Amino acid sequence: MGRRLLMLGPPGAGKGTQAEMLCRAIGIPHVSTGVMLRDHVERGTELGTRAKEIMDAGDLVPDDIVIAMVEERLAAEDAACGFLLDGFPRTRPQAEALVEVLGPERALEAVVNLEAPDREVVERILSRGRSDDTEEAVRTRIAVYLEQTAPLIEYYETAGLLTRVDGVGEIDEVLARVVAVLAA
Ligand code: AMP
Repeated sequence: MGRRLLMLGPPGAGKGTQAEMLCRAIGIPHVSTGVMLRDHVERGTELGTRAKEIMDAGDLVPDDIVIAMVEERLAAEDAACGFLLDGFPRTRPQAEALVEVLGPERALEAVVNLEAPDREVVERILSRGRSDDTEEAVRTRIAVYLEQTAPLIEYYETAGLLTRVDGVGEIDEVLARVVAVLAA
């Protein structure tokens, strides 16, 4: 099973939950830019203060900020042999920066695209109750996803890395599907 992984999918597809469970199951660090940014917000850092407004509006934090954050995280010792990226990259420049950050020796081994229909994702998001889950922010996040992040599906398909997983169903069921495609 590949250990340098990336999980893609629309907001509300259950990426965070699946990513966390998968990481626990195979013992690799979960690298989530959303978690890292929320941590900055909670700690009240300068970055957190800047990011909060952007996140609450459902927009994207500037590329250079998230790229620097991921670069630093992936340089940590625990990420030397494996990691699962979740919520990054979200734009083409982020995807291209990731290639540089990883270099040829640590290139991605697989990208899982967690698929879920629109109906399902809006329902899931609104039941989550996060501070950036207001209806307007959710609408913006979905529009931003379609415009900036969804094109990465084709980018990784062209790179021969993409596998698609049906994200509809019980959490354990979906996890079993993810594990199965990664083992194949
Ligand atoms: P998430 O937990 O992945 O849904 O991320 C929550 C919010 O953090 C997003 O709506 C963005 O505002 C911000 N964010 C997370 N990851 C990124 C990223 N890779 N690029 C830009 N903004 C991000």
